[in-house]
Amino acid sequence: MDTGAQLLGRYLSELAQVTDEPGKLTRTFLSPAMRRANALVAGWMRAAGLATREDTLCNLIGRLETSSAPRVRTLLIGSHLDTVRDAGRFDGALGVLLPIVALAELRRRKIALPFAVEVLGFSEEEGVRFASAYLGSKGYTGQLRASDLGFADAQDVTIRSALENNNGAPFAPPKPAHRKRDLLGYVEVHIEQGPVLEAKKLALGVVNAIAGQTRAKLVFKGRAGHAGTTPMNLRRDALAGAAEFTLAAESLAKLTPGLVATVGTMSVAPGAANVIPAEATFSLDLRHPRDAARRAALRQLRATATQIAGRRKLTSTWTTTQDNAAVACSPTLAGALTASVRAVQGRSLALPSGAGHDAVVMSALTPVAMLFVRSRSGLSHHPDEYSSPADLGVALDVLIDFIERLARTHSS
Ligand SMILES: [Zn+2]
Repeated sequence: MDTGAQLLGRYLSELAQVTDEPGKLTRTFLSPAMRRANALVAGWMRAAGLATREDTLCNLIGRLETSSAPRVRTLLIGSHLDTVRDAGRFDGALGVLLPIVALAELRRRKIALPFAVEVLGFSEEEGVRFASAYLGSKGYTGQLRASDLGFADAQDVTIRSALENNNGAPFAPPKPAHRKRDLLGYVEVHIEQGPVLEAKKLALGVVNAIAGQTRAKLVFKGRAGHAGTTPMNLRRDALAGAAEFTLAAESLAKLTPGLVATVGTMSVAPGAANVIPAEATFSLDLRHPRDAARRAALRQLRATATQIAGRRKLTSTWTTTQDNAAVACSPTLAGALTASVRAVQGRSLALPSGAGHDAVVMSALTPVAMLFVRSRSGLSHHPDEYSSPADLGVALDVLIDFIERLARTHSS
């Protein structure tokens, strides 16, 4: 018989075969591969003693009941089963399969829990099909709005019609799956998607906060002119201004602990080798685990944009396109996770998550905590994504210890 860690490895390999694109791993919202993935994982959930169902968002839910308390609260553990295109096998899948194996192991050891556990496999997190992320967890937490359903995919199918076609019934955004007071919290295990744990030579770390994130679109406008005949001091070069801003954002982030700033897109008009750029449109992505620090950086960069534009005789516009507050992890849950990591690994590391996760959306419903597992070279969203069997074994031991620890707290 497989050990827990071997079982987890086998589940991860089998699930990685379930794809919409031969030769690479791609599973997008409501696709045939997603249907097959849900069926496969539901079978593993039932083998671990969970009762399974799908909600109207196609989220897969496996519930382990408990009979010990008169009013039972529920611990939620999960992540997402969809992937990016040409994905690795760990991102998302690990956070769904690991709790299934942990609960199977607790059952094998005949350990009864004083709370119910729901393992959640969210149907959509990556935003690949509809360029709108977190559809699964937004639905589960009752945060999906009718106005969210109009987004269309590349075939011009809207979210609403895709869901109605899948469910064979009219779709209405669901209410939250639970009342807040019935929940103990939400725990998500995820590969780190960064190189910090590898650098610290640790298998696991506990997330203390998920960074807040601001995205903005900036436009600098100057004046086109002949690249050969316009003297340098008479130019109003929009791209040179945008380049200066990009370097200013980089310097600020290097000088500000915890801040990351990225200019990831830039388009230039008119876009000819012999014409001075009249217009530069570019993006800024700014993240920090503390909102106050992110806002301060934002103010400074807006002032910088205005100042660069003024000095270079450009006009500048700034449009904030996305603004998400940071999410602090629950001290209680993160504290218990830290104690479990210390017990199994010897020491623990607290680290922020620079990437968003279902935990961000779940935090509107219940306290959240996250456990990060080392991923080789910090790689994610890539077929070479890799976490070693040894690290997965440590993660499994920690999750089991964490659930037992929570059980002791709630039965005393
Ligand atoms: Zn993920």
